[in-house]
Amino acid sequence: MTAVYPGSFDPVTYGHLDIIRRASVFTDRLIVAVLTNSAKSSFFSVEERLDMLSAATDGMEGVVVRSFSGLTVDFCRSVGSNLIVRGLRAVTDFESEFQMALTNRELAGEVDTIFISTSTKYLFLSSSIVREIALYGGDVSAMVTPGVAERLTRRFKG
Ligand code: ADP
Repeated sequence: MTAVYPGSFDPVTYGHLDIIRRASVFTDRLIVAVLTNSAKSSFFSVEERLDMLSAATDGMEGVVVRSFSGLTVDFCRSVGSNLIVRGLRAVTDFESEFQMALTNRELAGEVDTIFISTSTKYLFLSSSIVREIALYGGDVSAMVTPGVAERLTRRFKG
């Protein structure tokens, strides 16, 4: 079974990697898909986000990294997948995630969304928090891979 894990991954965190690891256990192929819709302005470029994800998932069997634009359900169809994976942190994630899942089902009845709850140690972790901490020179080593931390440091120093 092929599943798609879509997101901004701006940048990828240990929270995302936790979901990727868990999802990869029950999928044959997990496509981690970086959304490139221009309406949402991003901090890192698509290429940088793909690079960081590829490095972070290197060696994880069945995990591939791609980018896409447009509707997630159209991307799912194009890769022959009818399963979307999303991560859930606190209850606050639930409402918008549920709305998105139902909308996607409305658009494509064959595509279902499954939610994986995060490990408690990553409950409060988000890409935006990581960017904020890095901006002020804080230590993000417990939140992202060394490669991502290095890029953040370089970016904020420049
Ligand atoms: P989006 O911009 O679409 O929310 P993100 O890159 O922020 O994309 O997140 C992609 C997915 O990963 C979402 O389902 C989100 O809930 C999940 N996610 C983000 N951070 C964590 C975390 N710390 N633990 C578990 N899931 C997470």
